[in-house]
Amino acid sequence: MANSKYAYVRDFELPDPLLPGVFMVLRIDGHSFHRFSEKHNFAKPNDVRALQLMDHAAQDLMEEYPDVVLGFGESDEFSFLLRKSTSLYNRRHSKIVSTLTSLFTSSYVFHWSRYFPDTPLGYPPSFDGRIVLYPGTKEVKDYFAWRQADTHINNLYNTTFWALVQQGGQTTTEAHSTLRGTFAKDKHEILFSRFGINYNQLDAQFRKGSVLVREDLEEEKDGEVSRRPKSKVVMLHCDIIKDEFWEERSGLLVE
Ligand code: ATP
Ligand code: ATP
Ligand code: MG
Ligand code: MG
Ligand code: MG
Ligand code: MG
Repeated sequence: MANSKYAYVRDFELPDPLLPGVFMVLRIDGHSFHRFSEKHNFAKPNDVRALQLMDHAAQDLMEEYPDVVLGFGESDEFSFLLRKSTSLYNRRHSKIVSTLTSLFTSSYVFHWSRYFPDTPLGYPPSFDGRIVLYPGTKEVKDYFAWRQADTHINNLYNTTFWALVQQGGQTTTEAHSTLRGTFAKDKHEILFSRFGINYNQLDAQFRKGSVLVREDLEEEKDGEVSRRPKSKVVMLHCDIIKDEFWEERSGLLVE
Protein backbone atom coordinates (compact mmCIF):
# COMPACT_ATOMS: atom_id res chain seq x y z
CA MET A 1 0.00 0.00 0.00
CA ALA A 2 1.49 3.30 -1.06
CA ASN A 3 1.72 5.68 1.82
CA SER A 4 2.46 8.68 -0.39
CA LYS A 5 -1.15 8.88 -1.44
CA TYR A 6 -2.12 9.78 2.08
CA ALA A 7 0.94 11.56 3.35
CA TYR A 8 -0.29 14.99 2.25
CA VAL A 9 -2.47 15.17 5.37
CA ARG A 10 0.72 15.76 7.28
CA ASP A 11 0.84 19.23 5.72
CA PHE A 12 -2.22 20.16 7.72
CA GLU A 13 -0.14 19.94 10.90
CA LEU A 14 1.15 23.45 11.33
CA PRO A 15 4.31 24.33 13.21
CA ASP A 16 3.65 26.08 16.52
CA PRO A 17 6.97 27.49 17.74
CA LEU A 18 7.03 29.77 20.77
CA LEU A 19 8.77 33.13 20.32
CA PRO A 20 12.52 32.86 21.00
CA GLY A 21 14.24 34.91 23.69
CA VAL A 22 11.27 35.24 26.05
CA PHE A 23 10.40 33.57 29.33
CA MET A 24 7.84 30.77 29.30
CA VAL A 25 5.58 30.10 32.25
CA LEU A 26 3.62 26.87 32.25
CA ARG A 27 0.66 26.75 34.62
CA ILE A 28 -0.99 23.43 35.37
CA ASP A 29 -4.34 23.35 37.21
CA GLY A 30 -6.47 20.46 38.42
CA HIS A 31 -9.59 19.96 36.31
CA SER A 32 -12.74 20.26 38.45
CA PHE A 33 -10.84 19.75 41.69
CA HIS A 34 -13.72 21.20 43.64
CA ARG A 35 -15.48 17.96 42.77
CA PHE A 36 -12.33 15.82 42.97
CA SER A 37 -11.50 17.11 46.47
CA GLU A 38 -15.03 16.38 47.70
CA LYS A 39 -15.11 12.92 46.19
CA HIS A 40 -11.79 12.08 47.88
CA ASN A 41 -12.63 13.72 51.21
CA PHE A 42 -9.90 16.37 51.22
CA ALA A 43 -9.65 18.06 54.61
CA LYS A 44 -10.77 21.70 54.58
CA PRO A 45 -9.41 24.30 54.24
CA ASN A 46 -6.07 22.63 53.44
CA ASP A 47 -5.49 18.94 52.93
CA VAL A 48 -1.78 18.47 53.64
CA ARG A 49 -1.62 15.10 51.85
CA ALA A 50 -3.01 16.66 48.67
CA LEU A 51 -0.53 19.53 48.82
CA GLN A 52 2.38 17.15 49.36
CA LEU A 53 1.26 15.05 46.41
CA MET A 54 1.17 18.15 44.19
CA ASP A 55 4.67 19.08 45.43
CA HIS A 56 5.90 15.58 44.65
CA ALA A 57 4.56 15.66 41.09
CA ALA A 58 6.14 19.10 40.57
CA GLN A 59 9.46 17.86 41.92
CA ASP A 60 9.35 14.90 39.51
CA LEU A 61 8.70 17.30 36.64
CA MET A 62 11.64 19.53 37.59
CA GLU A 63 13.94 16.55 37.93
CA GLU A 64 12.98 15.37 34.46
CA TYR A 65 13.26 18.84 32.86
CA PRO A 66 16.39 20.78 33.91
CA ASP A 67 15.26 23.83 31.92
CA VAL A 68 12.50 24.38 34.47
CA VAL A 69 14.24 26.67 36.94
CA LEU A 70 11.41 27.57 39.34
CA GLY A 71 8.13 26.10 40.48
CA PHE A 72 5.35 27.62 42.54
CA GLY A 73 2.36 25.66 43.80
CA GLU A 74 -0.85 26.30 45.72
CA SER A 75 -4.17 24.47 45.92
CA ASP A 76 -4.58 22.40 42.73
CA GLU A 77 -2.17 24.43 40.60
CA PHE A 78 1.54 24.67 39.85
CA SER A 79 3.42 27.25 37.79
CA PHE A 80 6.80 26.54 36.20
CA LEU A 81 9.31 29.01 34.82
CA LEU A 82 11.46 27.83 31.92
CA ARG A 83 14.83 29.31 31.06
CA LYS A 84 14.52 32.17 28.62
CA SER A 85 16.81 30.47 26.12
CA THR A 86 15.44 26.96 26.49
CA SER A 87 15.39 24.92 23.31
CA LEU A 88 13.22 22.21 24.84
CA TYR A 89 11.43 20.37 22.01
CA ASN A 90 12.55 23.22 19.72
CA ARG A 91 10.10 25.41 21.68
CA ARG A 92 7.14 23.62 20.10
CA HIS A 93 4.12 24.89 22.00
CA SER A 94 1.84 21.84 21.99
CA LYS A 95 4.69 19.43 22.52
CA ILE A 96 5.85 21.22 25.66
CA VAL A 97 2.41 21.83 27.17
CA SER A 98 1.10 18.34 26.50
CA THR A 99 4.21 16.42 27.53
CA LEU A 100 4.82 18.31 30.77
CA THR A 101 1.16 18.35 31.77
CA SER A 102 0.94 14.64 31.03
CA LEU A 103 4.04 13.88 33.13
CA PHE A 104 2.66 15.92 36.03
CA THR A 105 -0.67 14.10 35.83
CA SER A 106 0.82 10.64 35.64
CA SER A 107 3.16 11.40 38.52
CA TYR A 108 0.18 12.59 40.60
CA VAL A 109 -1.56 9.29 39.94
CA PHE A 110 1.64 7.24 40.31
CA HIS A 111 2.24 8.57 43.85
CA TRP A 112 -1.41 8.83 44.93
CA SER A 113 -1.46 5.77 47.20
CA ARG A 114 1.61 6.94 49.07
CA TYR A 115 -0.20 10.07 50.26
CA PHE A 116 -3.72 8.61 50.38
CA PRO A 117 -3.14 5.00 51.53
CA ASP A 118 -6.74 4.64 52.74
CA THR A 119 -8.48 6.42 49.87
CA PRO A 120 -8.50 4.62 46.52
CA LEU A 121 -8.74 6.87 43.48
CA GLY A 122 -12.42 7.07 42.53
CA TYR A 123 -11.72 8.14 38.96
CA PRO A 124 -8.72 9.35 36.93
CA PRO A 125 -7.89 12.99 37.73
CA SER A 126 -6.80 15.35 34.96
CA PHE A 127 -5.03 18.70 34.74
CA ASP A 128 -5.14 21.50 32.21
CA GLY A 129 -1.98 23.27 31.10
CA ARG A 130 -1.20 26.57 29.42
CA ILE A 131 1.92 28.49 28.52
CA VAL A 132 2.14 32.25 28.79
CA LEU A 133 5.15 34.13 27.39
CA TYR A 134 6.63 37.02 29.33
CA PRO A 135 9.05 39.40 27.62
CA GLY A 136 10.88 40.75 30.66
CA THR A 137 11.96 40.05 34.20
CA LYS A 138 9.44 42.52 35.65
CA GLU A 139 6.54 40.54 34.23
CA VAL A 140 8.01 37.24 35.43
CA LYS A 141 8.40 38.54 38.99
CA ASP A 142 4.93 40.07 38.88
CA TYR A 143 3.49 36.79 37.61
CA PHE A 144 4.82 34.87 40.60
CA ALA A 145 3.84 37.71 42.96
CA TRP A 146 0.32 37.49 41.53
CA ARG A 147 0.12 33.76 42.26
CA GLN A 148 1.49 34.11 45.81
CA ALA A 149 -0.86 37.03 46.56
CA ASP A 150 -3.68 34.77 45.35
CA THR A 151 -2.51 32.05 47.75
CA HIS A 152 -2.68 34.52 50.62
CA ILE A 153 -6.11 35.92 49.76
CA ASN A 154 -7.65 32.47 49.23
CA ASN A 155 -6.07 30.97 52.31
CA LEU A 156 -7.16 33.80 54.59
CA TYR A 157 -10.71 33.54 53.25
CA ASN A 158 -10.84 29.73 53.42
CA THR A 159 -9.27 29.55 56.88
CA THR A 160 -11.84 32.02 58.26
CA PHE A 161 -14.69 30.40 56.37
CA TRP A 162 -13.93 26.91 57.68
CA ALA A 163 -13.32 28.17 61.24
CA LEU A 164 -16.83 29.67 61.18
CA VAL A 165 -18.25 26.36 59.93
CA GLN A 166 -16.15 23.80 61.82
CA GLN A 167 -15.66 25.64 65.12
CA GLY A 168 -18.34 28.34 64.97
CA GLY A 169 -21.19 26.01 64.03
CA GLN A 170 -22.31 28.15 61.07
CA THR A 171 -23.74 26.64 57.91
CA THR A 172 -21.72 27.28 54.76
CA THR A 173 -24.38 29.78 53.65
CA GLU A 174 -24.13 31.63 56.96
CA ALA A 175 -20.33 31.65 56.80
CA HIS A 176 -20.42 33.11 53.28
CA SER A 177 -22.69 35.91 54.43
CA THR A 178 -20.62 36.56 57.57
CA LEU A 179 -17.62 37.14 55.32
CA ARG A 180 -19.37 39.16 52.62
CA GLY A 181 -17.80 42.61 52.35
CA THR A 182 -15.08 41.96 54.96
CA PHE A 183 -11.51 43.15 54.54
CA ALA A 184 -8.36 41.23 55.44
CA LYS A 185 -8.13 42.92 58.85
CA ASP A 186 -11.72 41.85 59.66
CA LYS A 187 -10.87 38.22 58.89
CA HIS A 188 -7.76 38.37 61.07
CA GLU A 189 -9.96 39.79 63.83
CA ILE A 190 -12.65 37.07 63.48
CA LEU A 191 -9.96 34.37 63.59
CA PHE A 192 -8.26 35.84 66.62
CA SER A 193 -11.16 37.02 68.76
CA ARG A 194 -13.60 34.19 68.07
CA PHE A 195 -11.27 31.25 67.57
CA GLY A 196 -7.96 32.25 69.14
CA ILE A 197 -6.16 31.73 65.82
CA ASN A 198 -3.22 33.99 65.01
CA TYR A 199 -3.23 33.81 61.21
CA ASN A 200 0.45 34.72 60.90
CA GLN A 201 1.40 31.70 62.98
CA LEU A 202 -0.32 29.21 60.70
CA ASP A 203 1.88 26.87 58.68
CA ALA A 204 3.84 28.80 56.02
CA GLN A 205 3.02 26.00 53.59
CA PHE A 206 -0.60 27.23 53.61
CA ARG A 207 0.12 30.97 53.72
CA LYS A 208 2.95 31.09 51.17
CA GLY A 209 2.49 28.06 48.94
CA SER A 210 5.37 25.86 47.76
CA VAL A 211 8.43 27.27 46.04
CA LEU A 212 10.69 24.80 44.22
CA VAL A 213 14.18 25.90 43.24
CA ARG A 214 17.40 24.16 42.29
CA GLU A 215 20.28 24.24 44.69
CA ASP A 216 23.80 23.28 43.74
CA LEU A 217 25.23 20.30 45.53
CA GLU A 218 28.90 19.66 45.94
CA GLU A 219 29.36 15.96 45.70
CA GLU A 220 31.83 14.35 48.03
CA LYS A 221 33.83 11.56 46.44
CA ASP A 222 36.39 9.65 48.48
CA GLY A 223 36.89 12.65 50.70
CA GLU A 224 37.43 14.92 47.71
CA VAL A 225 34.94 17.53 46.69
CA SER A 226 34.05 17.05 43.05
CA ARG A 227 34.34 20.23 40.96
CA ARG A 228 31.24 19.34 39.02
CA PRO A 229 28.32 20.65 41.02
CA LYS A 230 25.11 18.68 40.80
CA SER A 231 21.86 20.34 41.62
CA LYS A 232 18.84 19.11 43.46
CA VAL A 233 15.33 20.46 43.67
CA VAL A 234 14.50 21.89 47.09
CA MET A 235 11.22 23.15 48.50
CA LEU A 236 10.76 26.41 50.37
CA HIS A 237 7.71 28.21 51.75
CA CYS A 238 9.19 31.68 51.50
CA ASP A 239 8.12 35.08 50.25
CA ILE A 240 8.60 35.53 46.50
CA ILE A 241 6.87 38.89 46.25
CA LYS A 242 9.68 40.98 47.70
CA ASP A 243 12.82 41.54 45.61
CA GLU A 244 15.09 39.66 48.02
CA PHE A 245 14.03 36.29 46.67
CA TRP A 246 15.09 37.23 43.14
CA GLU A 247 18.21 39.10 44.23
CA GLU A 248 19.47 36.04 46.08
CA ARG A 249 18.83 33.92 42.99
CA SER A 250 19.87 36.15 40.12
CA GLY A 251 20.46 33.05 37.98
CA LEU A 252 16.72 32.49 37.63
CA LEU A 253 16.24 35.42 35.31
CA VAL A 254 19.30 35.29 33.08
CA GLU A 255 19.30 33.32 29.85
P1 ATP B 1 -11.27 24.24 37.15
O1 ATP B 1 -11.41 22.96 36.40
O2 ATP B 1 -11.86 25.42 36.43
O3 ATP B 1 -9.87 24.52 37.62
P2 ATP B 1 -11.76 23.63 39.94
O4 ATP B 1 -12.96 23.00 40.59
O5 ATP B 1 -10.50 22.81 39.91
O6 ATP B 1 -12.21 24.07 38.48
P3 ATP B 1 -10.18 25.74 41.14
O7 ATP B 1 -10.44 27.22 41.07
O8 ATP B 1 -8.98 25.26 40.41
O9 ATP B 1 -11.50 25.03 40.64
O10 ATP B 1 -10.09 25.37 42.66
C1 ATP B 1 -9.64 24.13 43.09
C2 ATP B 1 -10.48 23.65 44.27
O11 ATP B 1 -9.98 22.37 44.70
C3 ATP B 1 -10.38 24.55 45.51
O12 ATP B 1 -11.34 25.54 45.51
C4 ATP B 1 -10.61 23.56 46.62
O13 ATP B 1 -11.99 23.36 46.82
C5 ATP B 1 -10.06 22.25 46.09
N1 ATP B 1 -8.71 21.90 46.60
C6 ATP B 1 -7.56 21.86 45.86
N2 ATP B 1 -6.51 21.51 46.61
C7 ATP B 1 -6.98 21.35 47.87
C8 ATP B 1 -6.36 20.99 49.11
N3 ATP B 1 -5.05 20.73 49.21
N4 ATP B 1 -7.15 20.89 50.22
C9 ATP B 1 -8.47 21.15 50.13
N5 ATP B 1 -9.11 21.47 48.99
C10 ATP B 1 -8.38 21.59 47.87
P1 ATP C 1 8.37 10.84 20.44
O1 ATP C 1 8.51 11.30 21.85
O2 ATP C 1 8.93 11.78 19.45
O3 ATP C 1 6.95 10.40 20.10
P2 ATP C 1 8.91 8.00 20.47
O4 ATP C 1 10.12 7.26 20.94
O5 ATP C 1 7.65 7.87 21.27
O6 ATP C 1 9.32 9.53 20.36
P3 ATP C 1 7.31 7.23 18.16
O7 ATP C 1 7.51 7.56 16.72
O8 ATP C 1 6.07 7.80 18.79
O9 ATP C 1 8.65 7.61 18.95
O10 ATP C 1 7.31 5.68 18.24
C1 ATP C 1 6.92 4.95 19.37
C2 ATP C 1 7.81 3.73 19.55
O11 ATP C 1 7.39 3.07 20.73
C3 ATP C 1 7.74 2.72 18.45
O12 ATP C 1 8.68 2.99 17.48
C4 ATP C 1 8.04 1.43 19.18
O13 ATP C 1 9.44 1.28 19.32
C5 ATP C 1 7.50 1.67 20.55
N1 ATP C 1 6.17 1.09 20.77
C6 ATP C 1 5.02 1.76 20.95
N2 ATP C 1 4.01 0.96 21.13
C7 ATP C 1 4.51 -0.31 21.05
C8 ATP C 1 3.93 -1.61 21.14
N3 ATP C 1 2.63 -1.77 21.37
N4 ATP C 1 4.73 -2.67 21.02
C9 ATP C 1 6.05 -2.49 20.84
N5 ATP C 1 6.66 -1.32 20.70
C10 ATP C 1 5.90 -0.21 20.82
MG1 MG D 1 -9.67 27.46 37.52
MG1 MG E 1 -8.74 23.58 39.19
MG1 MG F 1 -7.00 25.99 40.85
MG1 MG G 1 5.86 8.72 20.67
